[in-house]
Amino acid sequence: MLENIIYREQFDAVRNVIEKCRNFVVLAHKNPDGDAVGSSLALCLYLRSLGKNARVVLPNRFPEFLSWLPLAGETLFYDAPGSSAADAIENADAFFCLDFNSLSRLGDACSAVAASPATRVLVDHHLSPSDEFDTVVSFPEACSTSELVFRIIAGISGSDALSNEMAQCIYTGMMTDTGAFAYASTRKDIYLIIAELLSKGIDKDLIYRKVFYNYSLSRMRLSGYVLYEKLKLYSKYNAALITLSHDELQRFYAQKGDTEGLVNQALQMKGVRFSCFLREEHPGKINVSLRSVDDFPCNAVAEKYFNGGGHKNASGGELQCTMSMAVNKFMAALQDFKKELTE
Ligand code: 5GP
Ligand code: MN
Repeated sequence: MLENIIYREQFDAVRNVIEKCRNFVVLAHKNPDGDAVGSSLALCLYLRSLGKNARVVLPNRFPEFLSWLPLAGETLFYDAPGSSAADAIENADAFFCLDFNSLSRLGDACSAVAASPATRVLVDHHLSPSDEFDTVVSFPEACSTSELVFRIIAGISGSDALSNEMAQCIYTGMMTDTGAFAYASTRKDIYLIIAELLSKGIDKDLIYRKVFYNYSLSRMRLSGYVLYEKLKLYSKYNAALITLSHDELQRFYAQKGDTEGLVNQALQMKGVRFSCFLREEHPGKINVSLRSVDDFPCNAVAEKYFNGGGHKNASGGELQCTMSMAVNKFMAALQDFKKELTE
């Protein structure tokens, strides 16, 4: 039996919104990852199975390795020229806000959603949801938002309502947010849910290959280059740093998603508890990815030094500065958190 982490009143509140509304927009955070996309598509499929109009709207594109997901081809991207994402937002009676805790994580789509009179339902597993939502289903102990979407579908309609396609999306989100069940995944409920997803006929090994064995030759070369030339170990601080400039990304024809996973690789080194990846998206704009193990809270570093946030062991942020200034920030953070990193 699954533990009840979502209260009856929360199921009732979500069910009420679903019953009352007709036009739904499912939203997830900017730079969407496997959990953002998987949870949104699963919920959209569920809403459609109930006869509702539902669309997934994302602030920007997801990485190519997620494009095989059911319904992924119908996703609207807010930043795409000529996209009908803004119309969908304007015509929505209700928003489901998935895998983020504050509307600011919607990037340029934020103001349109904030200005809309439509009901906002949050379903998320980040800490400290903001007060911008009418109904809140927020559980940081969940391994992923996809786990929460499973619980909502099963809790409201029973697991018979879950299709094979929904199960593929949910499994993908749970798998990607836990590094294929390598972290944030010790709760037994996760495996009870997986058993249920398998009973829908999904092929978990195939899903693993579609997501993780999908590199281009240039991605493989980029990975070799990073490990050989760009990975720095700060053993005094149990920390590691990877930087990639805009020029380097261009040299390796890096596509969206090509740098995913590099920040985790640095954690494979013995003794490393904290890993930072600085990616110069454009000259002057640095995207920051942080990962940690055990009790070291990389989200505290993200908040204090990188205008960001996230989970204890996986967080991120961004800086408007040069790469060398960003590296200085990283060094300052190491000094500041030296005690926590080395205790
Ligand atoms: P990634 O390194 O994969 O881009 O991000 C890891 C996690 O960090 C995301 O799932 C999200 O929870 C969090 N995160 C990334 N960027 C930001 C940001 O700019 N602000 C906040 N609040 N969280 C972020
Ligand atoms: Mn997530």
